[in-house]
Amino acid sequence: MMQNDAVLKSHGIKPSLTRMMILDYLKAAKKHPNVDEIYQALQPKIPTLSKTTVYNTLHLFTEKNVARAVMLKDQENRYDLASHPHAHFQCVKCNEVFDVFRLPDVQLDGVLPGAQVQDVSVLISGVCEACQAKEGTRHE
Ligand SMILES: [Zn+2]
Ligand SMILES: [Zn+2]
Repeated sequence: MMQNDAVLKSHGIKPSLTRMMILDYLKAAKKHPNVDEIYQALQPKIPTLSKTTVYNTLHLFTEKNVARAVMLKDQENRYDLASHPHAHFQCVKCNEVFDVFRLPDVQLDGVLPGAQVQDVSVLISGVCEACQAKEGTRHE
């Protein structure tokens, strides 16, 4: 796997310590963190970190295709590394977001005449296994 500074440079981003740490965090995160979660996790390690910096860094990552914003029902952006586009399942009880399947490669250029496609998202919602178990409504 490419080192963080090389990944950032290859996307035209100047690597700074903060940027590399945010990238590290996204790589390690199994969930889809939002700005708050990333800020809370990294602030103890980078005392000068502000939420604005986290927000701006994620915006830059999204723009340069290092990360992708995941659109959810709650309108709050969460972030993923820019891997192959995949579908998400969001639990309506606990709000947790799971990666479910890779989206097939579909030719989308020209889907709307004159428009440029940037991203595709598939969001499935429902109640996850853990939440069903908690409520005792799970059907085996
Ligand atoms: Zn749940
Ligand atoms: Zn994902």
